[in-house]
Amino acid sequence: MSYVVNGVECLPIVEKCEGCERAKEVEGAKYCTSYPQPERKWSHGVCNFATHVKAEKDKTGKVKVNPLKASKRAARGR
Ligand code: SF4
Repeated sequence: MSYVVNGVECLPIVEKCEGCERAKEVEGAKYCTSYPQPERKWSHGVCNFATHVKAEKDKTGKVKVNPLKASKRAARGR
């Protein structure tokens, strides 16, 4: 199932998108308001548009995904 916005085909969000503020429900399915193909966004790692998680590198250089608290969001606009 897909949803077309301005001629762009949008695919439903994936499991990892749950909790993201950019996910929007349309006719019973959820779509991303920032990226038409969420699954592809996540296939390269953490979605850089996500509002609920953030990728951080730990000391060993490994990428960790941290849930983001609402209070931290305001500070991100720097
Ligand atoms: S911004 Fe990223 S995490 Fe959020 S709904 Fe869109 S694809 Fe998913």
